[in-house]
Amino acid sequence: MSDHSFVFSEKPIRIDHGEGVRLYAEDGTEYLDLGASYACTPAGHCHPEVLSRTTEQLEQLFYVQASYPHDQRDELYEKLAHTAPGDVDYTWLCNSGTEANEAALKFARSATGRSKILSTTRGFHGRTMGALACTWKDKYKQPFEPLIDGVEFVPYGDADAMREAVDDETAAVILEPLQGEGGINPASTGYLQAVREATAEHGAAMVMDEIQTGLGRTGSFWASDAHDVVPDILTTAKGLANGLPVGATLCREWVAEDAGPHGSTFSGGPAICAAANATLDVIHDEGLAENAAAVGEYLRSELEASVGDEVRDVRGNGLMVGVEVKRGANRMLRDLALNHQILALPAGRTVVRLLPPLTLTESDADEAVDAITEVVTS
Ligand SMILES: *Cc1c(COP(=O)(O)O)cnc(C)c1O
Repeated sequence: MSDHSFVFSEKPIRIDHGEGVRLYAEDGTEYLDLGASYACTPAGHCHPEVLSRTTEQLEQLFYVQASYPHDQRDELYEKLAHTAPGDVDYTWLCNSGTEANEAALKFARSATGRSKILSTTRGFHGRTMGALACTWKDKYKQPFEPLIDGVEFVPYGDADAMREAVDDETAAVILEPLQGEGGINPASTGYLQAVREATAEHGAAMVMDEIQTGLGRTGSFWASDAHDVVPDILTTAKGLANGLPVGATLCREWVAEDAGPHGSTFSGGPAICAAANATLDVIHDEGLAENAAAVGEYLRSELEASVGDEVRDVRGNGLMVGVEVKRGANRMLRDLALNHQILALPAGRTVVRLLPPLTLTESDADEAVDAITEVVTS
C-alpha cells in the first residue's frame, strides 16, 4: 500500500494480471472477478482481439487531434450510430462517464436555450461539477457546493411526478434506465416511456445515462432497446474500450446541430478508438448481450433458489445484479474476497453489486452462487 494515496481506500490485494473473468494477485492467488472494476471490461480482461488491434494502432500512431479525420475515429462514429437506438446518430467522444454527461447537459442547455435540469432520486451521474449536481447523494456533493444551479430531483420510478415536473423551461431530464450506484433499481417500461412522452411534449431533451447499463450489460445492447425508448441523448463510457478511458455522448440531429461550443484535447484518439472498435466487435461477434441475458437470468434464479430467504432481494437485468443483504454489504464483500477469492462491488451500504465481464459462463455463476450462499448463511 502506498503512503501517497488519499482519494481511495486501498484493498489488501495487489492485482498483477488478468485473463477473461479471472484476476491474479502478485502472490499468485486467482480471483473470480464479478465487478469488472465497475463494468469496465465487458469482453473480459486482456481480450486478445482488443489487445492486438489496440497494440497495432499504438505502433502506428497513439494520437492525433480530433480535427484531423482518422479511420479509427470514423469507424467508431459509424459503429455507435449503427448500434444506437433510432436516429441517435451523432457522437461526441471524451474520456469518462462524467465528461459524457457534462457534455450532455451542455448540449441540452444549448439546443433548448433553457437551463432547468431534472434528475432522479438515488441517481448517479458522475463527479464533475455539472454531473455531480445531478447526482443524488448529499455526501458526494456537500463539501463542494455550490454546484451548478437549476437542478431538481424527481422521485425515480414515479411517472406522475415526472409529468408534473417537466415543463416548458426544462432543458433536460437525465436518468439511468436501471440505477447502478443507487442500489440496482430497475425502472419499468411504462415509466421510461412516460418520461419520453413528457420530455417530447415540452421540447426537453431526454438524456439516458447508459454508462453502466449499456454495451450488452443488461441483456440488450442498450437498456433503452428493451424498453423501446429512443432518447435525445445517450451517454456511454465504462466498458466501451474494455478498460481504457473513453466516454461518448450520442445525440439526435436537433441536439447536435445546436450543441454549442465544446471540446477536449483527448477527444477520440486513434488508439482509444481502435480499442473501442475492437470491443464493440467482440460484444457483437461473441453475442455477449445474449450471453448476459442468459447467464444473468441463470445467476439470479440460482441465487434466489439458494439464498432467497437469507437476503432481502435479488434484482437486476442481465449481468447487472444486486443482492440486497440483511447485514452490511462491505462485511460480505470482504469475506467473499479474502475467504472465497471472489471480487464484487457495493451499491450503497446494503447491496452487493455484480457487474462481471459479459463472458461469464454458467459454471462461473455456479461458483459465485456457492460462495455467496456460504457468506450469507455463515
Ligand atoms: C460510473 C458512472 C458515471 C460516471 O462515470 P466516470 O467514468 O466514473 O466519470 C456516470 N453515470 C453512471 C450511471 C455511472 O455508472
